[in-house]
Amino acid sequence: MAATFPLSSNPPAGSISRPSEPGFYRCASPYNQRMREATKIIRSTLTRAAAGEPLHPGPVFAAPYHAPGDPSGIPYTYARSHNPTWTHLEKAIGQMESSEGYRATALVFASGMAACTAVFGAILRPGDVIVLPSNAYYAARVLAQEYFAHMGVQIRLAPTAGNAQTEHLDGAKLLWIETPSNPTMDVCDIAALSEAAHRAGALVAVDNTTPTPLGQLPLALGADFSVASDTKAMTGHSDILLGHVAVRDLELRQKIDQWRTLTGGVLGPMEAWLALRSIATLPLRLERSCQNAQRIAEFLITRPEVQQVLYPGLPSHPGHAIARRQMQYFGPVLSFILRDKTAAEAFLAQSKLFTDATSFGGVTSSAERRARWGGDQIADGFIRLSAGCEDIDDLLEDIAQALDATR
Ligand SMILES: *Cc1c(COP(=O)(O)O)cnc(C)c1O
Repeated sequence: MAATFPLSSNPPAGSISRPSEPGFYRCASPYNQRMREATKIIRSTLTRAAAGEPLHPGPVFAAPYHAPGDPSGIPYTYARSHNPTWTHLEKAIGQMESSEGYRATALVFASGMAACTAVFGAILRPGDVIVLPSNAYYAARVLAQEYFAHMGVQIRLAPTAGNAQTEHLDGAKLLWIETPSNPTMDVCDIAALSEAAHRAGALVAVDNTTPTPLGQLPLALGADFSVASDTKAMTGHSDILLGHVAVRDLELRQKIDQWRTLTGGVLGPMEAWLALRSIATLPLRLERSCQNAQRIAEFLITRPEVQQVLYPGLPSHPGHAIARRQMQYFGPVLSFILRDKTAAEAFLAQSKLFTDATSFGGVTSSAERRARWGGDQIADGFIRLSAGCEDIDDLLEDIAQALDATR
């Protein structure tokens, strides 16, 4: 059982120093003032103090649990439905997704895509309409278009930038948004879109992978589901797949939970335990990597080899004002565009500190030429970069010398 750490109300004004100049890696959103998140997150990974017991009990490996007679009062019966190590992780994530005025609950999945699929599958029925970003995470779009569309779900696509989904909500069942979007770093207004969707009678799900709940709280901004791939910055060590869905509403939780039990693609206890260890350092990792990302973005715009830098922390980004309002950190991921494929490949080959690999959010910096996968409407010289936790001077020196090689 996780110790429940009280969610405090706002600290008195002025009790936290919160730099808010444009371009600073921490934004000035109102819920920066909610309880000191780092403390809450770190404490939530501990169990209740009991003499002689470990601070961090190991993973609980089980398929069936002892369950004599009437199973209704027994907390754990069979591990496709529940596991104590998941419970511990879900409490920690649930606290992270909670804020003033509401308490969130979370369900963990074997991957981010399993979490996305759970929301689609639990909510959408033949004849229903889902409104999706045309630049949503590629696999989520394919899942909708190749599977749910064939089962009679109608799909409407509109870009993330400019809150373009607003025009397509009539009669919709589910609005799915992703902000900042992967990999183009477009931003939309979660609160405004949630209000419009609710007026139209639609539920709202936010893919919150790039910022993590420490960087952005979709449920506090009005969304019904906060969905994420915790494979990325949330766990941050490039060694496990994990996803979660968080909700405020217990009926929605019930639907998602039932989907997970029936479809059965659940995560193992070892992954849940590794995730708990990793999440305790999220505040440290995110602070450093977002600070590094901001510095890298500011450096890249000064370089003539770089045609465009896409990062919501830059005042020149079209979504900057919205991001400042709704995010606490601008995130560890940025994208930039070099002249062409050859220049991008030369950059990646020449860099010594940016591992050429997909995915993002790890403690080690990485980058990739995103167009090599296809599926996204991006230039051949488009690079998605994930700032890790290394020393910023080393990262900037490495980028400078790798850019020199692209000339
Ligand atoms: C990676 C990612 C996913 C899928 O997560 P997996 O853990 O790889 O299954 C979903 N959405 C976004 C935005 C992602 O970046």
